[in-house]
Amino acid sequence: MLPNYVGAVVLLVGYLLAGNLMQDIENERAAALLDPFGMNAVSLVTKYWTPVERNVALVGLDGLMLQNRLIWMAIGLFVLLAASYRFRFSHVASEGRRWRRRAAAAAAVEAEQPARSVRLRIPRVSRSYGMTASLLQVVTLARQSLREVVGNRYFVAILGAGLAFLVFSADQVGKLYGTTTYPVTYQVLEVLGGTFALFVLIIITFYAGEVVWRERDVRIQQVQDATPMRGWVPFAAKFIALSLTVALLQGVVLVAGVLTQAVKGYSNFEIPLYLQTLFGFYFLDYLLLVVFVLLVHVLANHKYMGHLIVVLYYVVMAFSSQLGLEHNLYQYGSDAGTTYSDMNGFGPFATPFFWFKAYWAAWAIVFAVISNLFWVRGEEAGAGWRMRMARLRFGRPQLTAALVATVLILGLGGFVFYNTNVLNEYRTSRDAQRHAAEYERLYKQYEIALQPRITAVSLHVDIFPERRDVAVRGTYRLVNRGEAPIDSLHLRVPHRAEIAQMAFSRAAESVHADEDHGYYIYRLDSALAPGDSLSLDFNIAYVTRGFENRVTSTQIVENGTFLNSGMMPSFGYDPGAELSDEESRRKQRLEPRERMARLEDDAARRNNYISRDADWIEFEATVSTSPDQIAIAPGYLQREWTEEGRRYFHYAMDTPILNFYAFLSARYAIHRDSWNDVAIEIFYHPGHEYNLVRMTEAVKKSLDYYTREFGPYQHRQVRILEFPRYASFAQAFPNTIPYSEAIGFIARIASDEDVDYPFYVTAHEVAHQWWAHQVIGGNMQGVTVLSETLSQYAALMVMEKEYGETRMKKFLKYELDRYLTGRAFERRRELPLLRNEGQGYIHYQKGALVMYALRDYIGEEPLNRALSAFLADN
Ligand SMILES: [Zn+2]
Repeated sequence: MLPNYVGAVVLLVGYLLAGNLMQDIENERAAALLDPFGMNAVSLVTKYWTPVERNVALVGLDGLMLQNRLIWMAIGLFVLLAASYRFRFSHVASEGRRWRRRAAAAAAVEAEQPARSVRLRIPRVSRSYGMTASLLQVVTLARQSLREVVGNRYFVAILGAGLAFLVFSADQVGKLYGTTTYPVTYQVLEVLGGTFALFVLIIITFYAGEVVWRERDVRIQQVQDATPMRGWVPFAAKFIALSLTVALLQGVVLVAGVLTQAVKGYSNFEIPLYLQTLFGFYFLDYLLLVVFVLLVHVLANHKYMGHLIVVLYYVVMAFSSQLGLEHNLYQYGSDAGTTYSDMNGFGPFATPFFWFKAYWAAWAIVFAVISNLFWVRGEEAGAGWRMRMARLRFGRPQLTAALVATVLILGLGGFVFYNTNVLNEYRTSRDAQRHAAEYERLYKQYEIALQPRITAVSLHVDIFPERRDVAVRGTYRLVNRGEAPIDSLHLRVPHRAEIAQMAFSRAAESVHADEDHGYYIYRLDSALAPGDSLSLDFNIAYVTRGFENRVTSTQIVENGTFLNSGMMPSFGYDPGAELSDEESRRKQRLEPRERMARLEDDAARRNNYISRDADWIEFEATVSTSPDQIAIAPGYLQREWTEEGRRYFHYAMDTPILNFYAFLSARYAIHRDSWNDVAIEIFYHPGHEYNLVRMTEAVKKSLDYYTREFGPYQHRQVRILEFPRYASFAQAFPNTIPYSEAIGFIARIASDEDVDYPFYVTAHEVAHQWWAHQVIGGNMQGVTVLSETLSQYAALMVMEKEYGETRMKKFLKYELDRYLTGRAFERRRELPLLRNEGQGYIHYQKGALVMYALRDYIGEEPLNRALSAFLADN
């Protein structure tokens, strides 16, 4: 039977390896041929098919598909022939030849000695049935079971397959545009620990059955069952043996990880992080699983039925969210998620992880008690008999354990529930849809209500990284830019914000306050005439309390806070909060909705696509944070001071900006440089120095090219700010570019072949200072051509100057691949670039290709002349 499992594992490894190769377009063909099941060949053939093609076309048996089938049919045939050639009806009884030889040798030695009578002294045995004896039994049994699992050559085979897979995965660490990252510990752990998890799962699933059936498989159960052994001893021993096996596997990952780093010439081995992750986070998960799988095998009392149930359990767990069991309190062993960041460690994820696991550990105690009660001992195995035995075994210790576990489950479960559902808001995905639909039904009517525009923003933001809180005091100046008077103000405040004060400078009466949807209506005593203005003073706070069912609020964290203007009060109905997915709209009985206003819709031109309640604003902010952190906002630093143990920064902007700003705070190191009179500063996490020079070069070359070709830069400074990898994008605010640690800070440009994407991303974000922050489109189809597509084009030009046309080809190949695969997942319709509705694969990838081609057709100089004339006109 075992060779079958091993065969299955080998096939699986082949499939996984091929899948891994598929991720880089350079290797897809090899991957498609390597996959024994042909599934990668099917994916590759259909990769660029549009949804329509997917619905109607068939995969033909030709080309790659045919080659793959021929290769694997030939291999299959060969294996079949080899097997039939070697097949014998006779059967060797013992394990191997070596054993027989040794037995024969022993027999020969015995035969040579003449028989002599020996007086035997029978040892005096003191019988002991105490705790010490039981523990000794546990140790002995556990050692035997462990030896049996680990010493088994099939275990070695599975482990070998896993290791081969590890070596292979190690090569794929963090690939983007075919370029890898430095093998920092968390990445290596995620890739290796993640891929190896499957093998750990296979080993737990399979060997739990083996150890439970160990005595019965070799038919010595009657001997063992007759020994004076306490009921809990075998379970404890087998649990320990499996746990040690898992620990051993984690050790293998650790060694493989360190070796991977060493081989790749990286020497910052963060052993504590390895231990924490492998023997903390991962190991706890596996232990919970071991208890559950043992329980299944004890209850099922049929090895293969047990395996089947465990596999079914994995399937059910994978789909439990779809079955409506979304809360982690329903999913055995689950937690609120974990993401490690170099900047912020396990940050907000560690505490909920601990509490969820404690809760599930209490369940594991219950499972262990049940396993002990139903452990099969003796020949009788009928259900009735086992029930009777269980009742007999249910003594005081079992009762105590069960009671303690129940109290823990209720206590910990209650505590978790209090955190996730009382202190924080818990919504199932259906609740969330209903909530969005409700918002639309209630307030869509106000979409056209004329609202004043924000023209000046002055903020005082206090960030408390340790508590994960932020308090905002602010003043908006509002002007009626319309032609009619405004008699009521529609204020929106994000639902999570706690409002301490909202005060308008004119008498206004609150006539509607809907905290749940964050929608407030104030009626002005005297209407705001066209051209007239008023101001709003507000005071709001975001406070972190307890933990969520799934950690989502990662804006305010201990090191690496990044929050943006979306958390501030705003005016008027926001169609962006409507349900956009057609399917969920239908479920909520909402009318179908256009993704964006049509290009011909003149009314839509009233708003730019960044904010609906402002055009250009004056901006000024004071930000405070912990004394060891630096806080940043758009604008120029006016003053920095310390007061009552907190660090304050006052920023002011000297030119009008979009109503789009961000606040960041972290323990930063600063890399400084300059271009002409523009200061370049990169605020980065110490240790992430790898690409600072590249990024600085990109800023300089971009400023060079853009100022020459498009027009002057409107600021005196460019700042790049690293933030934790809870999101992986870069974003351009006025003179301020937050940039995720995940997309460039640890990229490793090792050869001339590699795509320098830190350079490219930087050039793209700098380009936004022209294409978005100097000219911005109306909130309608095609608007992102002006921001994203033109930034792509600008960055392409800078990169081409730096790296030449050959490397551009490689880059554009990836862009083409991403465009075509993006298109394959379009849910509505692919529109021409000019009418795109914010679809990334169109405005980024297709946009880059189109602009590059346009440059080829009409030439760089005329194209740039047109662009700079356009910029000057607007
Ligand atoms: Zn962009």
